[in-house]
Amino acid sequence: MKLLRRAFLLLPLLASVAQAQTAAPPALELVVLGSGGPGATGRAGSSHAVLVDGVPRILVDAGPGSFARLGEAKLALGQLDILLLTHLHADHVGELPGLVKARAVSSGRPITLKIFGPAGQKARQRDDADFPSTRRLVELLFGKQGAFGYLRDFSAPLSFQVTDIPASTRQPRVLLDEGGLRISAIAGHHRDAPAVIYRIDHGGKSLTFSGDIDPQGHAALRRIAADTSLLVVNSVVLDPPDSPPVLYTLHTAPTQTGEIAADVRAGQLLLAHLSPAVDGRREAVQAAIRQHYAGPLVWAEDGLRITP
Ligand SMILES: [Zn+2]
Repeated sequence: MKLLRRAFLLLPLLASVAQAQTAAPPALELVVLGSGGPGATGRAGSSHAVLVDGVPRILVDAGPGSFARLGEAKLALGQLDILLLTHLHADHVGELPGLVKARAVSSGRPITLKIFGPAGQKARQRDDADFPSTRRLVELLFGKQGAFGYLRDFSAPLSFQVTDIPASTRQPRVLLDEGGLRISAIAGHHRDAPAVIYRIDHGGKSLTFSGDIDPQGHAALRRIAADTSLLVVNSVVLDPPDSPPVLYTLHTAPTQTGEIAADVRAGQLLLAHLSPAVDGRREAVQAAIRQHYAGPLVWAEDGLRITP
């Protein structure tokens, strides 16, 4: 009898253990913080948070407006220590000071932010602009002589480990490999803006971020994205000739996106960085992609959470 009573007393405990087991966080989860840009269309500029075993650890790009979305997503920032920048256009990095300050006030402990992004480039044509390296950008923003240098000792000691990824990176290069989390990169191509494609692997799942990419970057994307669980492709233009010609020197058309997603056997495809043109012609865009890719296709929204 006593034994039986003890068994009954144990039941709730066993149930809660079982619940904790079923509620184990996914190895990787993606939260869309900004699904738009560069126009002010009601979507925040390009930005994604990546949760590793349920912990927000990584930001991919820092577009304007992502600061507010990060707060709305109610993500704890205390362990966020990796920033991956696909390129240094304003719609992808404009929110850096706000996000770095939010991280600085999230914890009193010393913080080291590991920041990865493209190397700099001198203008190739007279009308083009120079692009600073990621290291230079961080120096201009947060260096001792930088615009927001005070942040280095504002709330907690804050330091930066910045890695510039050169445009000559033609094979996937491992940037970080710790505790089963692996981040790799390859140079992308976004006309004159130095660009990087990232892949995050953990627990048998993976996320690949194309960044803004023109056709000269497609071979690199195919190389790094093989068998990826979730392929995130920036979607700015319609198939030719429905977008302004100059945009095809910067971006990837839907039919090409479908071909790439099929070639790399992507588990899921997320269309991100949506322009009003693409957003307004969803059926046509989807039909173009569906000529080649039959897997799950998701349209990004600010705040959307996806588990690959
Ligand atoms: Zn962009």
